[in-house]
Amino acid sequence: MIDLHTHTFFSDGDLIPSELVCRAKNAGYYAIALTDHADFSNMDFVIRRITRITDGLRRYYKINVIAGCEITYIPPELISKAVQQARKLGAKIVVVHGESPVEPAVPKGTNRAAILSRCDILAHPGYITEEDVRVAKKNNVLLEITTRNGHRIGNWYVAEFAKKIGAKLVMDTDTHKPEDLFSEKKIKDVLKEAKLTQSDFAEMQKNAKNLIMSF
Ligand SMILES: [Zn+2]
Ligand SMILES: [Zn+2]
Repeated sequence: MIDLHTHTFFSDGDLIPSELVCRAKNAGYYAIALTDHADFSNMDFVIRRITRITDGLRRYYKINVIAGCEITYIPPELISKAVQQARKLGAKIVVVHGESPVEPAVPKGTNRAAILSRCDILAHPGYITEEDVRVAKKNNVLLEITTRNGHRIGNWYVAEFAKKIGAKLVMDTDTHKPEDLFSEKKIKDVLKEAKLTQSDFAEMQKNAKNLIMSF
């Protein structure tokens, strides 16, 4: 399994990167991206800390570990700058914390700005519009189906538009605690809720794989 959205205790996750990666390996993961919350105050800190350890973890624990970040609550007009800065600092996967029905405080316009910035993944974008989905397809931004409680209520809506328009989806866990990592039951439940199938899951994993093979 590939999971491109997780948090360590460099932001609000419970685990140190080494423990998160070991637990992921144990859960049958092939690859995991460590994508802590970042704004302009801590981006250099979280990305540099994570990139310091990814090669070692990959080598010793035989799992593909990818450094990233999740751009969070940055004003929409500055998201593009933040994405570029994150890439410059060494983030391979840049996720943007999208507009979700359970988090109305996320600045309005975040979904569109993220898609225009050509980030890699727009996370939990439950408030997405049809036009946003069209631009996501054009800009090759993956739209996230999340297993995270709360945010996942928007999944069916994201899935429906993405299917209709042909935009690409990816399933992530947004892990903050060890029990958030992928399990067969969780995947099954989330697929059912979003009216998606096992072959959609395979497609989402393929989209994740293509992304990590591209760098
Ligand atoms: Zn988020
Ligand atoms: Zn997150």
